[in-house]
Amino acid sequence: MHQQERDELIFICKLLYDRGLLCGMDGNVSMRVSDGFLTTPSGRNKYFIKSDDLVHLNKQGISIEYNKKPSSEFEMHKKVYDMRCDVNAIVHCHPVYSTFFASSKYELDICLLTEAVVAQGAIPKAKLAIPSTSEIANSIAPFVDKADAILLANHGAITYGKNLEVAYSKMDSLEHFAKIQYMGLGDNSLNTINPETVELLEGMRDGYGLTTPCIPCNQKTDRSDKSLNEDEIVKQVLFNLSNRN
Ligand code: 13P
Ligand code: ZN
Repeated sequence: MHQQERDELIFICKLLYDRGLLCGMDGNVSMRVSDGFLTTPSGRNKYFIKSDDLVHLNKQGISIEYNKKPSSEFEMHKKVYDMRCDVNAIVHCHPVYSTFFASSKYELDICLLTEAVVAQGAIPKAKLAIPSTSEIANSIAPFVDKADAILLANHGAITYGKNLEVAYSKMDSLEHFAKIQYMGLGDNSLNTINPETVELLEGMRDGYGLTTPCIPCNQKTDRSDKSLNEDEIVKQVLFNLSNRN
C-alpha cells in the first residue's frame, strides 16, 4: 500500500545519506498519507532500508503494521503534524554543523545570507530533552508554528514542509547556513547584512510565494562574543582554523 509514497520516502533517505546529513543509525523521516502516516523504522541505517521496512501508522499515530517498530521519535513528528496542517513531510537528522550550533552557546540566527534572510530567518533552539521520549515532542512545541526548522539542543535538527522535497531541502539549506556561520565563529570576520537590506529582503517573501512562518534574523552587527574571554577567543579561532578544509 502507498507504494509511490514509500518509494519517494526511500529516495529521500538515500539522498540525506549521500549528502552527509545522516550518519549511522541516526535520524528519521516521515510523511502524511491519505489514511495516516509512513515513517522510517527505528534503529536502522536509512541508507539500507527498503520500502517494505517503512511503517504505516494510522491517523492517531499508532502502528498498523504490528511486526515492525516505527521510529522512536514519531511522537515528535506527530506533534508537528498536529500543530501544522500545512506540513506533510518531516526530516530529522544530526548534521555536523547544525548539531554544533544545537550543542553550543552559539545561535544560528544572524542576517548573513540573502536567501536565508528571505526563506529561513533565525533558527530557534528547543531546550535539552531526552531523545525518544515525550520530552522531545514537548520541547519543540513552542516553535513549531513559528519556523520550519528547529535545532534540538545537544542532539540535532528537525525540518518540515508541504512535501518531502521541501522538508529535505530545508535540512540541506539549514546545514549549508550552519557551515558558513561556523566558519566565521570567534574571529568576527562575517559581514552581516545591513538593516535596510534585511528589511528589503524580508519584504520579498510574498513575491517568492513564501507563506510558512519564519522568525526574523538577528540584526546584531557586532559578532564578537563578549562572553568569551581573550584566551577562549584565541582557542576558538585556532580550533576553527585547524578544522577548515
Ligand atoms: P529512531 O531510529 O528510533 O528513528 O531514532 C533515531 C534518532 O535520531 C533518535 O534521536
Ligand atoms: Zn535524533
